Amino acid sequence: MCLCHKCQSNNITLHSGLEEYTYKNAKHYIETEYSFCNTCNREFISKTQILENEKKIRDSKKQIDGLLSASEIKAIREKLHLSQTDAASIFGGGKNAFSKYERSEVTQSMAMDKLLRLTLKDRYIFRKLVDLSDIQHES
Ligand SMILES: [Zn+2]
Repeated sequence: MCLCHKCQSNNITLHSGLEEYTYKNAKHYIETEYSFCNTCNREFISKTQILENEKKIRDSKKQIDGLLSASEIKAIREKLHLSQTDAASIFGGGKNAFSKYERSEVTQSMAMDKLLRLTLKDRYIFRKLVDLSDIQHES
């Protein structure tokens, strides 16, 4: 449970509202969450809420850009029977890349996005990529 930093009360109510943001010359709306302290009547956004709200904006931009969502990336990785670490060895992007993509902490590049889609469609490409990496994979 979060506490009000001003008065230390835990009598906090969660609220949500639509937030507008501009991306690629167009206005978009996402539902964001914030907190309200019923003791001192203060409205605030907790650290967790800030992170969650940032994820929502990132997901929304991905959708606008036609990129795979965090859960779609996870689904592709699972269809290929890869751990997050193995996926990073095969596709690149750094050791923690897939953990970050799947938690929506980072947006994948357009190149990564295309490679993932291609790999899912074509087992030959997948075999080649596995051959080029240093992991052993049964498929
Ligand atoms: Zn308060």
